[in-house]
Amino acid sequence: MSIEVNETAIEKALKVWPVSSQIGQCQEECAELITALSRYLHRSRGSEDEVIDEIADVFVTVAQMAKLFGESKVQRAIYKKIGRLAERLREYQDNNSMCGPEDPTAAVSFDVFLRPTPSNCMKYGSR
Ligand SMILES: [Mg+2]
Repeated sequence: MSIEVNETAIEKALKVWPVSSQIGQCQEECAELITALSRYLHRSRGSEDEVIDEIADVFVTVAQMAKLFGESKVQRAIYKKIGRLAERLREYQDNNSMCGPEDPTAAVSFDVFLRPTPSNCMKYGSR
């Protein structure tokens, strides 16, 4: 994943506004993303641009929260959760082995989920 967030701006924001205000802003942005995604699922009411805008807001405020609560702790938690995702994918694949070797997902190597590298960046599926 190669999304960048300006760390200087993040650190400055944490010094300028009180913690309670920063946490409240993150809560608000998460709620706005939930709403945008709900609207997007009902295609007639939401747009992709709206979702992208709210994802950006959430990224910025979540970066502030990571700085506030401890980046290394958040990083460790992310590694743990990605590891659990890899386990669930492996279980899913084992339980759906009827797909056969021709199934392209059968060739997935789960080790790629355990270490972030340039080659295992996030890929988005179509809806
Ligand atoms: Mg917003």
